[in-house]
Amino acid sequence: MISKAPAIVILGPGSLATARRIQQCYPGALIHGLAGRVEGADRQYLEFGATLRELYQQDTPIIALCAAGIVIRTLAPLLLEKGVEPAVLAVAEDGSAVVPLLGGLGGVNVMAREIASTLQVAPAITTSGELRFGTCLLNPPSGYRLDDLEQGKRFVSDLLAGEPVRIEGAAPWLDQAHLPQDQQARLAIRIDSAAGVPAVDELRIYPRNVVVALNAGTTDIAAIGDALTQAGLAVQSLACVLAADSDMTRPALHEAAASLGVPLRFACAGGDIAQWLSEALGQPASIRRMGSLAIAVAEQPLDPHRIGRPRGRLAVIGLGPGAAELMVPAVRAELDRANDVLGYETYVRMAGPFRPDQVQHCTDNREELQRARHAFELAAQGRSVVVVSSGDPGVFAMAAAVLEALHESTNAHWHAVDLQILPGVSASLATAAQAGAPLGHDFCVLSLSDNLKPWSIIEKRLDLAAQADLALAFYNPISRSRPWQLGRALEIVAQHRTAQTPVVLGRDIGRPGQTLRVTTLGQLTPDQVDMRTMVLIGSSTTCVFPRADGGQWVYTPRWYGSKPL
Ligand code: SAH
Repeated sequence: MISKAPAIVILGPGSLATARRIQQCYPGALIHGLAGRVEGADRQYLEFGATLRELYQQDTPIIALCAAGIVIRTLAPLLLEKGVEPAVLAVAEDGSAVVPLLGGLGGVNVMAREIASTLQVAPAITTSGELRFGTCLLNPPSGYRLDDLEQGKRFVSDLLAGEPVRIEGAAPWLDQAHLPQDQQARLAIRIDSAAGVPAVDELRIYPRNVVVALNAGTTDIAAIGDALTQAGLAVQSLACVLAADSDMTRPALHEAAASLGVPLRFACAGGDIAQWLSEALGQPASIRRMGSLAIAVAEQPLDPHRIGRPRGRLAVIGLGPGAAELMVPAVRAELDRANDVLGYETYVRMAGPFRPDQVQHCTDNREELQRARHAFELAAQGRSVVVVSSGDPGVFAMAAAVLEALHESTNAHWHAVDLQILPGVSASLATAAQAGAPLGHDFCVLSLSDNLKPWSIIEKRLDLAAQADLALAFYNPISRSRPWQLGRALEIVAQHRTAQTPVVLGRDIGRPGQTLRVTTLGQLTPDQVDMRTMVLIGSSTTCVFPRADGGQWVYTPRWYGSKPL
């Protein structure tokens, strides 16, 4: 697993220079600045506490340029579980102190050393084992797995109490450590992939050098564990499960890999299993066939990301209207994991900034089907692809185009892609929320664009919806190439609604320079509207009343007909 890029969180402009220096250590790290206070940060946040807690819960390493006490107090409610926390550091805003706070097992001391060396100061390391031995024994490098954390802690306390230790097996990263080594020692650090319960005096570390491959159509997935046991191998040494491309969509396989805590990778599984397993590994290993599966044991730990390929993923996401707080967390996480981001340039830019390793494919807004096909081509190669829309992807946006492209395709690789549609706050809902609740009763959503449907059908729907006394939300109300349509639409609505009907115009809602205007159907003219505007037209029951701040609240009551008592 590639460890996540840290978030550098700053509260004021005075920290920006230090933050930029720290950013040099971590490609992909973004600087999060307090909105209204910090200009030029990569991302803006509104509330420090909520932001820090969210990052922590998403397992993002945090480098906060502020007092250690603030960070501790902010995260205090979340600190119950140790062992599954990201690294958290406080750094003085002038770069004069680097204090690792949390995440000893998440490599916080390693980060503290890296940052301190960039800032040319000494890190404030307080972990005894780390100070004494120069490394955290309980946090072996990637490619190795510690067996039992609790037992490990006891083992390290014994070492700290002065006991010597022997190393059995290959642990190249311990060559630099200052361990009191003695071949006769009672305590041993043992690094190998053999199965069996560790002895009390042992710290077991497993190299992840084992791969289990399953032939196409293998249904007995429980056999993975049995085969490892039979081969005398510890399940902790499993680096990944390798399955046949043709089994990519089988849920049982994904569940098995998840329950073993390893990635599931795929290869073209034709002919002899030992042969295709060996090709997918691309390095020497001893391979043993066991019925419909085979086990490979390599000399060195294996990087599962280099074995076969993953199941591709395609997520069609909605950014919401614009403001970062209105983006759902699942979308944020999806953008973070993406290899490729596709979409209309404005939206791709809105979804960024991106890491240098993330490829941006910006296209014209009109090439929807072509973009959808391109997305499937990339995802079918095993990449993690995101297609961005503003608002919700299912509302006059990319989700339907992506599904249409898939429906039309007979390409099995496209159909095997893990396709996800992640919702967003649509412009009508974001606008309505700012005005109050104009869509509080039944309403109808229409696009006034006749690019993809005949104008006659728009007129018919408008007429019927207006007649049915539904509140109306108009997307794509007007554009340079469609100048007269909105005027005609309003004429149709006016046949069924009074001139006093409340109207809400939201422009660039959730974006810089947003405006919200409450008017009436009688006063509305097309020149008050442009393509960045959402038009909400009330029903016969929609009301308006003054807000204490001088504005107006608009709502449509929940009831219809006679008011319930
Ligand atoms: N998928 C989008 C809608 C795309 S259609 C969504 O769910 O919001 C584009 C139209 O949406 C624009 O012409 C405009 O009418 C409306 N729109 C999109 N973003 C908006 C915003 N931030 N403020 C007001 N209207 C917006």
